[in-house]
Amino acid sequence: MFVYSIPLRNRFRGITVREGVLFEGPAGWGEFCAFLDYSDSECVPWLDCAEESSVESWPSPVRTRIPVNCTVPVVDPERAREIVLKSGCTTAKVKVADPGVDLAADLERVEAVRDALGPQGKLRVDANTAWDVDTAVHAIRELDKVAHGLEYVEQPCPSIEELAAVRRKVDVRIAADESIRRADDPLKVAVAGAADLAVIKVAPLGGVRRALRVAEACGLPCVVSSAVETSVGLAAGLALAGALPELDFACGLGTLSLLDGDVVAEPLTPRDGWLPVPTSPPVPVLRDEFAADAETTAKWLARVDRVRAGR
Ligand SMILES: [Mg+2]
Repeated sequence: MFVYSIPLRNRFRGITVREGVLFEGPAGWGEFCAFLDYSDSECVPWLDCAEESSVESWPSPVRTRIPVNCTVPVVDPERAREIVLKSGCTTAKVKVADPGVDLAADLERVEAVRDALGPQGKLRVDANTAWDVDTAVHAIRELDKVAHGLEYVEQPCPSIEELAAVRRKVDVRIAADESIRRADDPLKVAVAGAADLAVIKVAPLGGVRRALRVAEACGLPCVVSSAVETSVGLAAGLALAGALPELDFACGLGTLSLLDGDVVAEPLTPRDGWLPVPTSPPVPVLRDEFAADAETTAKWLARVDRVRAGR
């Protein structure tokens, strides 16, 4: 086992360093990196996912490469333009509705991103549950105007009922992300008419195979996103995206640039907006630079033991 600690280029979910455990099994390497605010029981699927990668081979892919979006955080319009142009991606996901940022600033950022993408590019926004229904309906209509058409809005409100209410009032597609967390939730999302798409993540859903079953059960088009893993964990997300029977949207797997380093020799960094589908997890090169200190290592190894013991 190897515990890593890699600085984030920008604060994300209130953290500045990404930590996790890499471990090797008969099939290769897996990554366990549940965020530290997750309880031991919430960590079980994350550990299952890491173990699946290290113990079993992944399902056969039906495609060899995956289109990915670039991610535009809460930055000024000029920086937003740069991020899009530098990425080479034809789809951009723009973070909106951050605390303390008003709609006017979100509109300016989205306008700049549309300008950088050109008329053919796809532009989606993610509100991460920030709005109530009325605020969402107003904001989505305004954002849709300056975007000249949004591809979709990710998780505008917290609850499934609110998503359904917003979806009835706007013409823009709604994607459920935070609402898709356990295997039984996606079905609730679909039954409630709460979303047009499901954002699925391989680690919180317990691995490639289980995430494939969730995708099938919810019956919605899926977008595969990461949990800001190193290339070892990202490879499992790419295996899922590669094995989905249908994939009509760019995925949120181009997130390695959020980390200030990686653990493999050939990082899964997108080229011209695409990532390859790996057939097995990449082998980490265990560099001292990203090795966690003794205290952090002990904390993670104890966490793995507790999660294993509790499941
Ligand atoms: Mg999201």
